[in-house]
Amino acid sequence: MTPHLTVAFDADDTLWHNENAFAAAEDRFNKIVAPWADPDEAQRVLVGFQRSHLGLYGYGVKSFCLSMIAAACDISNDEIPAALLRTIVATADELLAMPTKLIDGAAEALQAISQNWPTMIITKGDLHHQLRRVAEANVGQYCSDVEVVADKDASTYKRILQRHRIEPENLIMVGNSIVSDVAPLLEIGARSVHIPYEFTWALETAAQDPEPSDRWFRLESISALPDLIESLS
Ligand SMILES: [Mg+2]
Repeated sequence: MTPHLTVAFDADDTLWHNENAFAAAEDRFNKIVAPWADPDEAQRVLVGFQRSHLGLYGYGVKSFCLSMIAAACDISNDEIPAALLRTIVATADELLAMPTKLIDGAAEALQAISQNWPTMIITKGDLHHQLRRVAEANVGQYCSDVEVVADKDASTYKRILQRHRIEPENLIMVGNSIVSDVAPLLEIGARSVHIPYEFTWALETAAQDPEPSDRWFRLESISALPDLIESLS
């Protein structure tokens, strides 16, 4: 066993379901703006606003809501009625109020791994929403820390490692996104386990996998994670 190993977990679509609800909200958005655009065009405009808004608003539901409103105004040439804008806000409110549903096997894997190694959650998004979901999912008990960060790039991970006095080679990050949970970890010399989710957000979709190496792994299910961590330690 590597005594200094730390296992960090992404939260959205790694510990709990998230993107499935966003996908349903996007379908609803497509229907709201259907008088002015077909679904492909609606999504093209929406993703464009999400991308351009990231630097201004960051990640999370509130940012998504403002992007839907901006996209709806753009798509309709500012003709969309206020009642439909209210429906868009209601769609975002429902996302925020949605109960936190853990992915099968996530709590068991986290609990098992936390018995042998320090674990933490590293998630981006809205601070208030993410901390509430950690509490609802009742997973904080297995983690020595929860980091809600503005972005998950190499410099963010470096700062977390320095703050926790962890050497990069002693960190294993577990997550569903190549862009956020794998590539930046490989860049700083850490290891990563990729566990894909059934939906991937357009802005988290990697053009291609990193080169195969013994520093990143892919699993079908989080239930297989404790055995993999054991074998890597
Ligand atoms: Mg995720």
